[in-house]
Amino acid sequence: MSYGVQGQARRREKSSDLRPLRRLIPFILPFKRQVIYATIALIFASLATLLVPLALRNILDHGFTDNGFVLVDQYFALMFAVVFTLAISSALRFYYVMWVGEKVVANVRALLFRHLLTLTPEFYEDQRTGEVMSRLTADTTLVKSAFSFTASIALRNSVMFLGSLIMMIYTSPMLSGIAALAIPLIVLPLVFYGRKVRNLSRQAQDALAASSAFAHERISAISTVQANTQEPRTIDGFEEENDKSFAAAAKRTFSRSVLTFAIILISMGAIVALMWFGSHQVLAGKMSGGTLGQFALYAMFAASSLGQLSEVYGEIQMAAGAAERISEILDEVPTIKSPDSPVKIANAIAGRVQFKNVNFSYPSRPDTLALRGASFIAEMGEVTAIVGPSGAGKTTIFQVLQRFHDAQAGMITIDGMDIKKLSLEDLRSQIAIVSQDPVIFSGTVAENIRFGSPDATEDEVIAAAKAARVDDFATELPQGYDSLLGERGVMLSGGQRQRISIARAILRNAPILLLDEATSALDSESESLIQKALAKLTKGRTTLVIAHRLSTVRNANKILVMERGKILTQGTHKELVKSNELYARLAKLQFNAQ
Ligand code: ADP
Repeated sequence: MSYGVQGQARRREKSSDLRPLRRLIPFILPFKRQVIYATIALIFASLATLLVPLALRNILDHGFTDNGFVLVDQYFALMFAVVFTLAISSALRFYYVMWVGEKVVANVRALLFRHLLTLTPEFYEDQRTGEVMSRLTADTTLVKSAFSFTASIALRNSVMFLGSLIMMIYTSPMLSGIAALAIPLIVLPLVFYGRKVRNLSRQAQDALAASSAFAHERISAISTVQANTQEPRTIDGFEEENDKSFAAAAKRTFSRSVLTFAIILISMGAIVALMWFGSHQVLAGKMSGGTLGQFALYAMFAASSLGQLSEVYGEIQMAAGAAERISEILDEVPTIKSPDSPVKIANAIAGRVQFKNVNFSYPSRPDTLALRGASFIAEMGEVTAIVGPSGAGKTTIFQVLQRFHDAQAGMITIDGMDIKKLSLEDLRSQIAIVSQDPVIFSGTVAENIRFGSPDATEDEVIAAAKAARVDDFATELPQGYDSLLGERGVMLSGGQRQRISIARAILRNAPILLLDEATSALDSESESLIQKALAKLTKGRTTLVIAHRLSTVRNANKILVMERGKILTQGTHKELVKSNELYARLAKLQFNAQ
């Protein structure tokens, strides 16, 4: 089974059309007005350009006669008007097309991000963060250039090409007939190399994403890299990915260059041949010099439009590759969703949690049960501690209770309601978590406390901070609660981070509390502060705690002893020390208890 976008990438590599771009059309529809403005501007600009050769012919054929001065003056005055129209309509076309392009991509990016937030841990386990980020940034940027700059050029040149073609036929059907012979010669390389460019582009973007993913992973763990003195190998690793990206991009560029060579050679060569033939016609008195000049200009227009179109075609192919990568993410269906008609949760829920014969295995390890027949009840207002060796399945209980993963068999209920019947939002709002290693986002102390309850008032934030003993250190920071934390701000100690996360949980005021006690040793002062903060938090809630401290298990109303996904036994500390061998051993080793 393949969960990730990479699997899709492999499946799609063979297709070679512009279909992925069609996916983006609905994003353009809301901006019909701007598209219409751009089209009008485009038509004016093209008409203005197409008038120039006509004027030239008249000047050449009639301008240099007796009353030439008057005629030449008139024509040139007209030319200025044409130039002005050309300038203003080109600028407007550029503005509107670029505007639509930027707007479309901003919306695609927003949708992509919104979609990313709905995807389940299962998706992210299979992906590297940097890879996903690359799709959000690098691929959307490519699509942006296709929809703005490239589209602007493509539109202008398509209209110019068609217009020039019509004018060529109008000027000299015979020369046009000869020129038509060159067309298949031009189209063939366009189709062949276009495909090639698109596939190479996809490869280049994939490689770029891989190098971003690599960089992202290593930079987020920079101290581990430096502590292990692995900088040189890390650099090599990055350069390897980087080189792959370059190699694919270089191949793509080569293909595009060959395409440019072929198009210019064939089209310009055809024009030169036509001019040679035309000159003979003029010499033989079968055609006027002006007509030949006019035709030559239209042919140049047509050829240069075609040349530019072929370049742009390469870019559109590149964008199609990128759009495909974006579509793959948009097509990822979240494996865990709210039911279509969720059961509404009552206002005052008690929060009694029950697991009934729950079997669960992680998608990446379908053959190993991480929970096997887990059954227990966590009563409201009580503390239920989970203990067991590492890998026993303690964290997994938290995961399935929050529906980050769904159990394959059995049932999990809150106050008797199957959690699968609740909306994800309702379910998760009943739960507050204090994890072992809480995440601090870049933002102020107050913003971090408010993270799970954005509507909390200032007073509520301070009250939670006091209860969680955040007050003790926050007031000593340079700007108090407004001090910046995280990447560009103050770094907090493990104990301080935990207290912030306790304050978050207090503020969230949810009936069910999931607590993952820190295994890392805290100094005894932090430890006692945290215990005091927690005592306030657990009061009146259903608390499930992954326990690592003697005081916790001693005070727990019930202890679940787990090993290899099974709940071996349940009871109080006193009962279990006597009755359960594993617990007695754990208690001795982990909790230092007799
Ligand atoms: P504990 O919290 O008791 O240390 P966990 O609940 O984290 O244990 O893990 C239980 C088992 O499930 C372990 O064997 C672990 O390797 C496996 N496991 C945990 N998370 C994942 C995951 N995301 N994908 C695959 N296996 C996992």
